[in-house]
Amino acid sequence: MYANIIIDITHEKLDKIFQYAVPPRLEGILAAGCEVEVPFGKGNRLTKGYVIGFAEQCDYDPAKIKEVRDISQKGIAIEGKLVALAAWMKDHYGGTMIQALKMVLPIRQQEREKVKKKLRLLLDGEEGRQKLEYYLHKNQRARARLLAALLDDPVLDYELVNKKLNIPLSVVRALEEQGVAVLESERVYRNPVKHREAAPKPVTFTEEQQYAVSRFWEDYEKGVYGTYLIHGVTGSGKTEVYIEMIRRAVETGRQAIVLIPEIALTFQTVMRFYRRFGDRVSIMHSRLSAGERYDQMMRAKEGNIDVMIGPRSALFTPFPDLGLIVIDEEHENTYKSEQVPRYHARETAIARAEMEQASVVLGSATPSLEAMYRAKAGIYQLLEMKNRSGQQELARVHTVDLRQELKDGNRSILSIRLQELMADRLEKKEQIMLFLNRRGYAGFISCRECGYVAKCPHCDVSLSSHRNGRLVCHYCGYEEEKPDTCPECGSRHIGEFRAGTQQIEDIVKSQFPEARVLRMDMDTTREKDGHEKILAAFANEEADVLVGTQMIVKGHDFPNVTLVGILAADMSLYADDYRAGERTFQILAQAAGRAGRGQKKGEAVIQTYSPEHYAIVTAAAQDYGAFYEEEIRYRELMGYPPVENLLAVLVSCRDEALLETGCRYLKEYALRVKGQKQVELIGPASPGIGKINDIYRKVVYLKTKRYDTLVTMKNRLEQYIEVNAGFNTMRIQFDFNPMQVF
Ligand code: ADP
Ligand code: ZN
Ligand code: ZN
Repeated sequence: MYANIIIDITHEKLDKIFQYAVPPRLEGILAAGCEVEVPFGKGNRLTKGYVIGFAEQCDYDPAKIKEVRDISQKGIAIEGKLVALAAWMKDHYGGTMIQALKMVLPIRQQEREKVKKKLRLLLDGEEGRQKLEYYLHKNQRARARLLAALLDDPVLDYELVNKKLNIPLSVVRALEEQGVAVLESERVYRNPVKHREAAPKPVTFTEEQQYAVSRFWEDYEKGVYGTYLIHGVTGSGKTEVYIEMIRRAVETGRQAIVLIPEIALTFQTVMRFYRRFGDRVSIMHSRLSAGERYDQMMRAKEGNIDVMIGPRSALFTPFPDLGLIVIDEEHENTYKSEQVPRYHARETAIARAEMEQASVVLGSATPSLEAMYRAKAGIYQLLEMKNRSGQQELARVHTVDLRQELKDGNRSILSIRLQELMADRLEKKEQIMLFLNRRGYAGFISCRECGYVAKCPHCDVSLSSHRNGRLVCHYCGYEEEKPDTCPECGSRHIGEFRAGTQQIEDIVKSQFPEARVLRMDMDTTREKDGHEKILAAFANEEADVLVGTQMIVKGHDFPNVTLVGILAADMSLYADDYRAGERTFQILAQAAGRAGRGQKKGEAVIQTYSPEHYAIVTAAAQDYGAFYEEEIRYRELMGYPPVENLLAVLVSCRDEALLETGCRYLKEYALRVKGQKQVELIGPASPGIGKINDIYRKVVYLKTKRYDTLVTMKNRLEQYIEVNAGFNTMRIQFDFNPMQVF
């Protein structure tokens, strides 16, 4: 028996693996993640290493192989736990151990130190509030927003101010000139926010909140760790509950990780954690450089912080005694990695928590089918929070049948009902959001007579029509002239099939000339911080109407928005994808929930061609329970996750014929491996996108009840691929329970 060992886990070159023989006394004791002592180098200096796996044969001359000296007596250090987690991920999601380790371990990189700027408030609370009144009175919204943030936190990171609050330097300078605040320089790696003198007032919990906290805490205190799912409507106070749970876990000397989908869109939430935990909390945002990330990780390891907030990758924070992992908005797609190993943060968090005796708390207003299915099966504990903590009522939702609209002679993208409500809101100086549910597809052009669709010759995706009269491929950048007549049948009825955000913007502008319109989509947010700037402008009430795609329905609260129009609500239903219903429900429920967050009551209009579809009906009623029942029945019927497990084997190759052959061999081998086991094999199929940049793609699906069967089969396939040189020209990736069917 041989152990594969890495010596320096902080170095970028993790792929340097050394083999050592396992002495008989350590057989059965060593496991992945164990810290060991090994003789290293010419002088055989005793060196620390980590076991990452085992082999029955060694790749070198067995006579020259050295032996593992001993297992570390200090118990398993955090690095060892993370190595063990990487081994779990490799096993569960495929890929190599090196890929998994790179995902999980903090890697040191050489980098120069930077100087960070801080903005410090110079006024006391009373003066500050007076100044704030003044700015508001003068309608100086950016100044007001900055001052309000400073009144909450007297010292703000300049980068935070500039990037997240989106305050330009000119506004900061104006505050400096008026003696309101001062910009100072400080060495990096201190926390952006100083400990607050006055901690926020603790809230009196509602009964539901109290119950959630107690259920969690009664187990936790007894050393019983589990997974909890908080299903709570927006505004029911989930964040307050997380904060309380974390506070208690931290009080017992342990640490917590909070995963959020995207910092930029949940900035307000992040600030609340800051206010509560002061400089014991740290944020891991995606814009940190590798060096900054490493530093954050080291602060965590050395015990300088108790709480880490961040996206998916913050899950791997090397806390010495992790007690709790919170995953907010657990249904979000961003929790699934699109890089190998294609792990899901929810499952991986639960695996880590089990290894380290910690609990996991999931929260969502629209839980994923996976989470609710497990909660109903008793694997997770379900904590329901049905009421909003404040007085706000849910928005009133109207569903408009677009087929009827056409019959009534209205050819506009905006239904009569929506137009009336828009006029009303513009009159009242309240804000409107128009959401185009399009899942990121830009308007393609098609022929109304023969059905021809303009496609990229390299990528098998439809080309997008741009204003400059050209057709563009969003995958590879290919461009061509927009044709006047159909290249297939010569018809002149060729054009954009459906409206894009730009078109909606134009229509709104021509129909409501007095309205100030902002648009947020792929095009307007391309530049750095693009979407934050637009959101901030809308928050500053610099516009009456915000038109946009998916990105506008997440995150920020706009208290003055009292009308949300959901255009083409069913567009996402047409996606060829088993999660289409779930995604449609979530996005519609979320979009409708954007209306009426402030004091005023909100309304939403859902425009659809399929008003009877259950995803639309239940979203309009904001009835998650009814949606879940319908959706799970469909998944049961079709044998889709979470009822069964699906493994996608995605194969890509430059040569189409080779790809065909490769897939056939893979499928045949899979058939042999499966033997008597109940596994359904599907494909090889052409994925939705059959070709990217002249590389062809095919996918083979394996479907079965048991996840471990899929893992076994994946392992066998990996071995098969490794020993057959024929696969060298192919890239093969595994995706367990993919977020979409390819
Ligand atoms: P969620 O995370 O479920 O959307 P939040 O925790 O953000 O809900 O709560 C919504 C708002 O209600 C926040 O402003 C929060 O401070 C407030 N809030 C939550 N719980 C209470 C409570 N028990 N008493 C008073 N205000 C509360
Ligand atoms: Zn045609
Ligand atoms: Zn292309």
